[in-house]
Amino acid sequence: MLKYFSADWVFPVSVAPIENGVVSVNEAGEIQEVLTPAAAQQRQIKVNKHKGAIVPGFINTHCHLELSHLFGEIPERTGLVEFVQTVIKSRSADADAIQSAMHSADQRLFNNGIVAVGDISNQVISKEIKQQSKIYYHTFVEALSFNPDRAVATMDYAIEIKSQFAPLPATVVPHAPYSVSPELFALINTSAEEDEAFISIHNQETTHENEFFETKSGNFLQLYQFLGLNLSFFKPSGKTALQTWLPYIKKQKTLLVHNTVTSKADVAFAKQHHGNLYWCLCPQANLYIENTLPDVDLFISEDLKITLGTDSLASNHQLNILAEMKTLQSLKKVEFEKLLQWATINGAEFLGLEDQFGTIEVGKSPGLNLIQLSKDFEIESDRVIKLA
Ligand SMILES: [Zn+2]
Repeated sequence: MLKYFSADWVFPVSVAPIENGVVSVNEAGEIQEVLTPAAAQQRQIKVNKHKGAIVPGFINTHCHLELSHLFGEIPERTGLVEFVQTVIKSRSADADAIQSAMHSADQRLFNNGIVAVGDISNQVISKEIKQQSKIYYHTFVEALSFNPDRAVATMDYAIEIKSQFAPLPATVVPHAPYSVSPELFALINTSAEEDEAFISIHNQETTHENEFFETKSGNFLQLYQFLGLNLSFFKPSGKTALQTWLPYIKKQKTLLVHNTVTSKADVAFAKQHHGNLYWCLCPQANLYIENTLPDVDLFISEDLKITLGTDSLASNHQLNILAEMKTLQSLKKVEFEKLLQWATINGAEFLGLEDQFGTIEVGKSPGLNLIQLSKDFEIESDRVIKLA
């Protein structure tokens, strides 16, 4: 049986929004038709008319289910170095508590209208939840070791975790420029090329990250001291973090996450050195950790492919893509249709899911979210009602 849904606005994303548009879906949630109100009226179709706007299911390209039990545990606005140390110190917990926190995070993601997630993992503990979830998960198994002597062992370990995730989709990725040696980058790059895998990496989350690569100074030195790593092998490149690591990843599709201190020169460098980059913004996590936001205007004017992520409950009060959109709309004045594209088709494309998700088009099963907008498309609430 078909269901017909209508609202004040339908945003298919693939084409212009349709006022009072009508969408029909079958029981499996597959889009059968997208109609104008006139066409629906002509055929005397009985519709379920809602107040608000119908949009495709959201794609969250950056999350860490594994850290869900740290909800409310990590102080806000301490800066990245303090944040990372606190996460490392507080990570371990009772296995049941970790499982139940991940389970409820998965439910919340689903209830917030999210249909697909790119999830960072360091262990295999989220596998069962992902397998049973109604959400599509792609797992990024994070390799991390800044000590070049540990590159081979670290890569072997990450490949082992990846194989334990099978048959779920998973790829091995670098954690961040400051936690992956050039040797480990090379191994990750080779393996990604062989598997035609896409990559995700935390990029330029704080000015200290650039400082470390430019002059081997700043509070990252404290972090290595905390980690007990002797940095005598490390020579600063004299360049920013991005300009240092990007050449290690030759051509695989890559998602740069955070980009809080990425500059115009970095963007120019990135465009020159890599043809297939996506840029993930996690505004609420940036506000939580560093109390700052990336130069969104720059990214828009440079026409970068932007996606959205929630990061984890260690650095966010919720896992809600609509809330991320609302934050960017109110603080950075980004127009709604642009935000919607970032939250849907761009993320779907990065995860290779554009045939199923990202737009309301016949044959896709993108999920249908009902949200509330003002007359001039201001997001009025971060509450999502799932229609399909
Ligand atoms: Zn993250």
